[in-house]
Order: sequence, then C-alpha cells, then structure tokens
Amino acid sequence: MGRIHDNLDELEQRIREACDRSGRKREDVLLIAVTKTRTAAEINEALDWGITDIGENRVQEIMDKYDHVHGDVNWHMIGHLQTNKVKYIIDKVSLIHSVDKIKLAEEIDRRAKEHGIIAPVLIEINEAGEESKFGTDLEGGKKLIEEVRDNCPNLRIKGLMTVPPFLDDPEAVRPYFRHMKSLFDSYKNLEDERMDMEVLSMGMSGDYEVAIEEGATMIRVGTAIFGARNY
Ligand SMILES: *Cc1c(COP(=O)(O)O)cnc(C)c1O
Repeated sequence: MGRIHDNLDELEQRIREACDRSGRKREDVLLIAVTKTRTAAEINEALDWGITDIGENRVQEIMDKYDHVHGDVNWHMIGHLQTNKVKYIIDKVSLIHSVDKIKLAEEIDRRAKEHGIIAPVLIEINEAGEESKFGTDLEGGKKLIEEVRDNCPNLRIKGLMTVPPFLDDPEAVRPYFRHMKSLFDSYKNLEDERMDMEVLSMGMSGDYEVAIEEGATMIRVGTAIFGARNY
C-alpha cells in the first residue's frame, strides 16, 4: 500500500529508536497522525496501517471527514478553537489540545454538561510568547490551570500542549521541550480530583525524536506521514 505505509514504517522505527535512547517504553508515546488538508482516503490508508488517533486543526475539517473515515478512531482537536464552534465537535473529539483562555474552557464546560460528558483537555502553552501563535504565556499558564480546575467541573485537565518556535535544527528546540517537561512536572502539584496530569503533547515532523527524548507522551506528526501539504 504505497507511500503512506512506507512513511509510517520508517516513522515507527525512528520513534522506537528515540524511546530506546531515552529509556522510555514505546507504549508511553502515542502517535497522533495529523490529517489536516488530507482526504478521507489518505486517512483511511493510515488507519489501515494501524493508526488509532488523528489530529485536525480546523472544526470544519473534522465535520467534513467525520463520517468518511472508517473504524474506531480517536479525533484530537489540535488547532485554535473558537468559542462559537465548540458545539460542533464536543461529542466528536476525544481530546482538545488547545485550551488557552478561560472563556473557551467555560464554553467547553457548558457544552460538555449538555452532553453529559466530562471533556478531557490540555492547556496550550506558548512558551516563547510568539505573537503568531496561540496558547497562554508562561505566567498565564498556572493561573489558567487553577481557574479551569476550580470553575469548570465538566472538564478534566489532562496535561499540556505546546508548539515551540520553528527552528531548522531540532537540537535548538530541545531546551523548549525540556522546559515544558519541567513545567508539566511542577504542575502535578496542582492536581486534585478534577485534574490528572498525564499528557505532554509536543513534537512534530521536524522534532518528534527530540520531543520523545525530553518526555513527550503524545507526538503530532503530519508531513512525515503524508508528505508536504499544499494549502
Ligand atoms: C500541522 C500541525 C502539526 C503537524 O505538523 P507536521 O510538521 O506536518 O508534522 C502538529 N501540531 C499542530 C498543532 C499542527 O497544526
């Protein structure tokens, strides 16, 4: 089955090697195939290979593809989520990675309650404070976690997500991942029954190996599976 399966074979090999290098177990790192701009046929090819989790960054794409991918698959919302669109995906996604404002958290809370579910979420941290990116800044992160924990009973904070600065050399990104891991560990102190920090979502096609070495538990990989995107 062609290129996508070959790419996945190679990716899997490199994930295993990164796990070995850092003394981690392969099953402790979840590969999320990022399927934005990809057709349902391409996604199904990845699912045939064994992919269980897919990530999209637009609500519209989730809506368009939802009924066209086959089998049991977990959808992840990894992109910026507008408050007025939460209602379209609340019952479709298994994890929202991109909570960066209390207003958004409150809307997810409201919709989760309507559906009688507890919505698992990650807090998106914009470590470098880049203006072009979403996510709360470092100072805001802890406050947001506490606010969500205390005011949104239908949410569960499962961890953190970050998109570090784009740098050609993956080694240059390592300090960002390392710092995110230390934040993640420190936030475990905030845990109560409404919060269990177990997910650290970081690492993309260019830097997933470094992210694994630094403690990622979910990596979000698109290009290395499906090839370059044409927007
Ligand atoms: C597109 C995207 C990815 C995947 O990027 P690749 O470089 O194609 O692997 C990961 N995370 C987010 C939030 C994205 O939008």
